Amino acid sequence: MKPKKNIAKKVKKPEAKKTKSPVSEEKKARSYSLVRGMHDILPKEEKYWKKCFHTAEDLASYFQFGRVETPILEETGLFIRSIGKGTDVVDKEMYAFEDSDGSRVCLRPEATASIARSYIMNGMANIPQPVKLWYWGPMFRHDRPQAGRYRQFYQVGYEILGATDPSADAELILIAYNFYKDLGIPVEVHINSIGNKEERERYKEELTNYYRSKRGYLCADCKARLNRNPLRLLDCKEADCQPVKEEAPKIIDWLGTESNNHFTKVLEYLDEIGVPYSLRHTLVRGLDYYNNTVFEIYPASGEGTAQSALGGGGRYDSLLEQVGGRPTPAVGMALGIDRSILAWKQYNEQNKLVVSGPEYDVFFAQLGDDSKRVALRLLDCLRHSGIKVGFNLGKSSLKNQMEIANNFKVPFVIILGQKEVQDKTAIIRDMESGVQEVVDQKKLETVIKKKLGRA
Ligand code: AMP
Repeated sequence: MKPKKNIAKKVKKPEAKKTKSPVSEEKKARSYSLVRGMHDILPKEEKYWKKCFHTAEDLASYFQFGRVETPILEETGLFIRSIGKGTDVVDKEMYAFEDSDGSRVCLRPEATASIARSYIMNGMANIPQPVKLWYWGPMFRHDRPQAGRYRQFYQVGYEILGATDPSADAELILIAYNFYKDLGIPVEVHINSIGNKEERERYKEELTNYYRSKRGYLCADCKARLNRNPLRLLDCKEADCQPVKEEAPKIIDWLGTESNNHFTKVLEYLDEIGVPYSLRHTLVRGLDYYNNTVFEIYPASGEGTAQSALGGGGRYDSLLEQVGGRPTPAVGMALGIDRSILAWKQYNEQNKLVVSGPEYDVFFAQLGDDSKRVALRLLDCLRHSGIKVGFNLGKSSLKNQMEIANNFKVPFVIILGQKEVQDKTAIIRDMESGVQEVVDQKKLETVIKKKLGRA
C-alpha cells in the first residue's frame, strides 16, 4: 500500500473557532476611571498630607480640642435644617439618596452640623463648657469640578461650643493663621460681621430694595438670588455686577450695639495677637447658620476670589437650637486641605522651597535570597528599636541599592551578603568616609544606635 500522502496538509482544517484567548479577553476588560470630581491622593503627595495632619493635630492638642469622628453618612434633614434651603450646598450640591430602608441619607457636605448633632446626642451640654472639638475627614459636594474644587475633599475643622466670648472667635482665627504659618504659607484673614438675625433681616430688606432698583444691570444668577437668598448677591463674581456690589449698602451699618461691641472686641484681640486681617463688607459666607463674626482665609498673594478661599468659619449661635439642642452659642471653622496643599505647592514653587519627604537613619542593602530572608527579620528588629531604615527588597544589585541609599542621603548603609548570613554578621558602611566595619548581627542595633548618637 502506497503510503498515504500527507493529507493532513491538504485537508482544509475546519475553521478554527474564534475563541478569545485569555490575553485578548484581558485586554478587552473595561478599564475604570474616577467618578467625576474625585481624585486619588498618591504616595508622592503623602509628605504634604502628613504635615498638614500633624500640624492640625499639634494645634488641636495645644489649644485643647478633643477629636470627634462623626460618620460620613448622616440624615439628609440634618443638613437641610442647619445649612438651610436656598443655599447652594443644600439646593444643588448634596449627595442625598434614599437608603434601602427608605430613609433619606446624605454624604456629609460639611461637618459643623454633624458636630452639633453629636454634641446634643452625647450630652456634651452637661459637661463643663465650652466644649472644644476638632475633626478631620472627607466632605462631599456635587459642585462643578475645577482646579481646587472637587466633589470629595478633606477638611480639618475646629469648633468651640458653649462660648459667647469674642475671645473664642479670635482663638479660632489664631489657630487658622497658625496652621498656615506652621506650614509656611503666608495668608490673610478676611473678616466681617453679619450681625444677629433681626439685624440681618432688616439689612436684607434694604439690600433687596437696592438691588431691585438695579435689576437691569444684574446677571441671571443675581436676579435669581434676589428672591432666593439676597445675601448671596454679595458673593457674585460677574464683572457686570461689581459696580452694583460696590455701591451696595454695607451690613456693618445695620448692626446694633451688642453686635458692634462683639465685633470690635474680636478685632481688638486680633490686633493684640498680631494676626493681620482685612475688613470685607461683602463677606457673608454661603451657609445659613452663621451670625456675627464671619471670616475666610486666603493666600496672601491671592486675588481674593471665592475659589481660592483656603478656609472659613464664623459664629453659629442658633444652630444647636435649630437641630434640637438647648440654646448654645458656638463658633467654628473649617480649612480645606486639598486646596491648602495646592496653594502650598504653588507658593513653594514660586519661592523655590521644598517640603522634605520621609527621612531614614540607615539603608539596608541585601545580596541574594538568603540575605533577603535574614534582612526582613533584622529590619523588623531595627524597627522595634526606633531606627528608621530605608530598603528595597525588590533590588538585588549592590550598585542599585547604593544609588538608592545615596538618594536617601543616609549616613550609614548596612550590607548583608551570603558570607555575612553564614557568619551571622553584617557590614556597616560609613557613607561619608567609605569605611566599612563588620559587626555581629546581635550587636547591630546597639552599634547603629551608637553611630547615630542615640546610645
Ligand atoms: P466651606 O465649608 O464652604 O466654608 O469651605 C471651607 C473650605 O473647604 C474652603 O475654603 C475650601 O478650602 C474647602 N472646600 C470647600 N468646598 C470645596 C470643594 N468643592 N473642593 C475642595 N475644597 C473645598
